[in-house]
Amino acid sequence: MADAYAILTEKLGHAGSERLTRVLKRLMDEEEAEMVASLPCPVDELARKLSKEEEDVKKKLDGLFGKGVVFMTSRGYQFARNIMQLHDATGADVRLDEVWGRELLDLWEDFCQEEWYQAWAKGIETLNVPVWRTIPARKAISEGTKLLPAEDVKAILDKATRFAVTSCPCRRVAARCDLPREVCLQLNRAAEYVIARGSGRELTREEAMELLDFASEAGLIHMAPNSSEVVSAICNCCTDCCIFYYPLMKYGGLEKGVAKSRFQAEVDAATCDGCQTCVERCPFEAIEMTKVPGEKKLKAAVEPDKCFGCGVCAVECEAEAIKLVETRPPEHIPA
Ligand code: SF4
Ligand code: SF4
Ligand code: SF4
Repeated sequence: MADAYAILTEKLGHAGSERLTRVLKRLMDEEEAEMVASLPCPVDELARKLSKEEEDVKKKLDGLFGKGVVFMTSRGYQFARNIMQLHDATGADVRLDEVWGRELLDLWEDFCQEEWYQAWAKGIETLNVPVWRTIPARKAISEGTKLLPAEDVKAILDKATRFAVTSCPCRRVAARCDLPREVCLQLNRAAEYVIARGSGRELTREEAMELLDFASEAGLIHMAPNSSEVVSAICNCCTDCCIFYYPLMKYGGLEKGVAKSRFQAEVDAATCDGCQTCVERCPFEAIEMTKVPGEKKLKAAVEPDKCFGCGVCAVECEAEAIKLVETRPPEHIPA
């Protein structure tokens, strides 16, 4: 077979990348890479093709499943369908730290910083609809607001049947902030996958809700796939490490990749006591303190264009002076 690592870098859309090859070599030896490059293929057929014992092939593939390199599909084991899936699955697994320390994570970071982030931001420019969407923190919503099912974390959790939490691969790899890491909420089949692999911890629905509240209080932004039905995950992201926010804020294209929520923060200047907590918490630098006629203290004011409608500012406003209000129509969320 031609160089198996070369085949795999090509499958991941980064043909010939030496940095990605180093990641792949850390994840699998040559024999394993050859097996993975031949997938999808039934185990017995693969064993015949590579002149190996079926049991040995099965054992190796099970090991690669445990590491997050291959995935179980209706056609048997299959290699990661794209670079993001491989990054997330292998980067989330804290058990691999016992084997490699930070080595694997540092190899990923080197590839991300030197090659992937820029290419990813360029690729995003061609999208017609953003792939992810900011989900408002439930404690930030103005009273009486009617949420749509795809933006209401409670409705999303009420509909889901299984829940699990994994460590955030973005913050583990990038390590540019000290915000909580064990906050990636997986739902339904995604939860089943991480539980089966042993890389995720099963949660009850109530624990999942507590996790989301904890994340927004810690300053993390809820984010989910941009469709009218959220079935796979609710991420809790920061703008320092997230594979969406960080490169798209650095290289451009943020709103092409991540949609704002349908909401925007609004301040009641009469109630605002000028504490500036919201200014420090806003991940998008969308709030500034301004002079209001007749007031001695400066008051918070939101720059609408910069606000992503995450609600991170409002959940910790003790005066309850800042809240999310609906500014975009239901059609903002694609079917
Ligand atoms: S998308 Fe967000 S929560 Fe998900 S892995 Fe990246 S930073 Fe973590
Ligand atoms: S956190 Fe609340 S009270 Fe403090 S400045 Fe912001 S809006 Fe005003
Ligand atoms: S002002 Fe900042 S923290 Fe508040 S909702 Fe907008 S983007 Fe989020």
